[in-house]
Amino acid sequence: MIDRPVLILSALGRCLPLALSLFALMGKPVQAGETAKALWFPDQPNAPRYAWSSAPCEACERIEPYPGWRLMAEMAGLRDIHFLIAADEDSGSAYSAAPNVLVLAPSALRLDTCQQAFVVGHEIAHLAQRHFDEDARLLSALSGKAAGWTRNGERAMGLLDGNIALAFRMSQHWRWQEREADWLGALLAAEVYGCTLEEGALPYLRAAEGYGGGIAAAHDPGARRAEFLDAFAESARRLAFHAYYFER
Ligand SMILES: [Zn+2]
Repeated sequence: MIDRPVLILSALGRCLPLALSLFALMGKPVQAGETAKALWFPDQPNAPRYAWSSAPCEACERIEPYPGWRLMAEMAGLRDIHFLIAADEDSGSAYSAAPNVLVLAPSALRLDTCQQAFVVGHEIAHLAQRHFDEDARLLSALSGKAAGWTRNGERAMGLLDGNIALAFRMSQHWRWQEREADWLGALLAAEVYGCTLEEGALPYLRAAEGYGGGIAAAHDPGARRAEFLDAFAESARRLAFHAYYFER
């Protein structure tokens, strides 16, 4: 027989982590005009940075971001993102370019609010986590370069030129980056737009099924991305619930 104090302690032991995690997920309420990184969003990696010249596409045009996009960027710890619209769909619905450029294809502007928030959040996550620096560092290491052989990002990325073996070695790493951008982007969309996975990320990934294959692919198929995201469904639901009741 278990006595009552033990039962109470046992119940507390189960409930306290849940309450703490809920608090951590919600983060600090943001007042009008205030900018704040979300408590749950990871800090930028504390690693050497590369210099990037950032010339993503000549045919792109600057666009004024929706306030929600800006808020998602601020929640990821970024204030200075340039939003561009591409002239065509050749590079997919969206991509990011180091160090602070986010490019959307015309089709991304036609997505419904939650799918669009997921797409934009995903690219913000790539920029906030400085995945481009991670690529430059890993490419250098895999190529046997001495630490600090260059701080020029494009020069480090040039190691990939014509080196399909290196691209294969990088592809697993790129897939992990995509997963990270997926879950962070989905939670940004939940926090700012009140979008659950079922409303934003999952229908987008279902529609994007088939995109991203090929040799040394950076993306898993949409179904596998959706499966990975399932672990974050409850977190997104809680953030979306919070956004719904504490409108920003
Ligand atoms: Zn991505």
